[in-house]
Amino acid sequence: MMGQMMNRPLSIPAVMDYAADVYGERRIISATVEGGLHDYSYAEAWVRIARLAHGLRALGIGPGDRVATLAWNGYRHFELYYAIAGIGAVCHTINPRLFPEQIAWIMNHAEDKAIFFDLTFAPLVRALSDKMPKGIRQVFLSDEAHRPEGAGPDCLAYESLLEGGSDTFDWPELPEDAASALCYTSGTTGDPKGALYSHRSTLMHAFGSVLAVPQSYGEGARVLPVVPLFHVNAWGLPYSAPLTGTDLIFPGPKLDGASLFQLMEGTATTAAWGVPTIWQGLIAEMQKQGRKPKALEMLLIGGSAVAPAMIEMLEDFGLRTIHGWGMTEMSPIGTTTRPRAGHDRTERVKNATPQGKRIFGIDLKIVDEEGRSLPRDDEATGELLVRGPGVISGYFNAPQHSAQAFDNDGWFRTGDVARISPEGDLTIVDRTKDLIKSGGEWISSIDLENAALACPGVAMAAAIAVPHPKWDERPLLVVVRKEGAEVTADAVREAVAARMAKWQVPEDVAFVAAIPMTATGKISKKDLRKDLAGYFTT
Ligand code: ADP
Repeated sequence: MMGQMMNRPLSIPAVMDYAADVYGERRIISATVEGGLHDYSYAEAWVRIARLAHGLRALGIGPGDRVATLAWNGYRHFELYYAIAGIGAVCHTINPRLFPEQIAWIMNHAEDKAIFFDLTFAPLVRALSDKMPKGIRQVFLSDEAHRPEGAGPDCLAYESLLEGGSDTFDWPELPEDAASALCYTSGTTGDPKGALYSHRSTLMHAFGSVLAVPQSYGEGARVLPVVPLFHVNAWGLPYSAPLTGTDLIFPGPKLDGASLFQLMEGTATTAAWGVPTIWQGLIAEMQKQGRKPKALEMLLIGGSAVAPAMIEMLEDFGLRTIHGWGMTEMSPIGTTTRPRAGHDRTERVKNATPQGKRIFGIDLKIVDEEGRSLPRDDEATGELLVRGPGVISGYFNAPQHSAQAFDNDGWFRTGDVARISPEGDLTIVDRTKDLIKSGGEWISSIDLENAALACPGVAMAAAIAVPHPKWDERPLLVVVRKEGAEVTADAVREAVAARMAKWQVPEDVAFVAAIPMTATGKISKKDLRKDLAGYFTT
């Protein structure tokens, strides 16, 4: 028997319609590319989104068309999210840190009809003009007064596009499974692969995130996504913040510690989300100033494992950490840690070290090499698989990748190796391809890095497998020293030996000035492995 309830579709523009109505006075504050802060309300944003929707239609954008963005976190990028999805088109966010050839490849694969770009990226767009899909419309995210040098007459100013439209828009009723946004993984293994989100998946993910991390949301809360709008929808904040009447603070192009500190201080930011490398800059700035930004209470950190040493440093300033794990293919949040009232500092650090509990809507399982489910005893480790309404069911126009990405029951293979405790806490041991297999036994690179980071004087640590004549592979720790620190290989090895089995301790530590990073701010182990492949044999 079926329920007898209205079947109204979940819809992205309905989120901003709701926010403008119920939380109309809440703010969106952006550090702009042109300089200075832009500050307006959700109600004002909703009017501009309607005007933009008219402008998109005037550009010839129709249902299903892909519209690319190359932009920082700012109010215009936010408006694009809603107007593009709202008219039934697809907002294709592009990571500007990718190699230009990769950007061109992605744009052609997506068959983008238009590109909206920040002034910062005008030279990049100009350089790519010949390689982009033919007939693509170009719009720069500013007004005529800021027309970028060399932009042709066909290149439009965003603000001019908004001038023509009216303040309301008759939003079409779309099926909730209609595509809304497209984000490509950074392609660390082969070609980038596209995750094509829908209105339904986006809202289900936003609901799950709001329930899991209530500390970031609500009236009076001001959340700053350092995680980019160009990487997995800034972890869903452009949707979850308006739903909860939370002020959004967009940082624009300057993401160094001093700029973030100043913005947080000036806007009374209460929460911020981003990858671990970003917080190293903020921690350094807090150490310089001897305090945290005044209203800041918590950071949600994910994208890579967060070392206990980092959680401790944040605790020193009275900041709480929530650790999250997820993937582009999962909208992206899969799990978050849940702080308990009454926990002392030691318990808080311990609680935030694993990757947390699943958010509502996500199911987790770990399996052995034959695909059999493993127990949740916090010991058995296996490949992690997930399913849920925020998880992809295939890659965009890539049947060859899609075929391998799921098991026979339709669960998505994450490529991560993990264990799960009886209480449902997930610990990511490693990425399958980053595990180190020494003499037939696995060593977790994350455990090695966490141990090395506990050694005073270590700023950054990456553990990689290096071919070894006797053991097949041995771990090598690659370390960046803190400025002025004189930490030795023996000191790092001692710190590791204090936390891990003797045979897991690397024979050597390679000190380097910098570690290569990926376009999404993660350590690029692929590059490190290539650079250091001959370490034990030559
Ligand atoms: P890409 O690597 O292409 O940028 P994602 O940003 O989607 O793609 O990365 C997802 C991967 O990042 C996960 O599969 C996992 O390996 C890693 N990851 C994300 N969050 C965490 C975390 N908190 N701890 C450990 N690994 C993480």
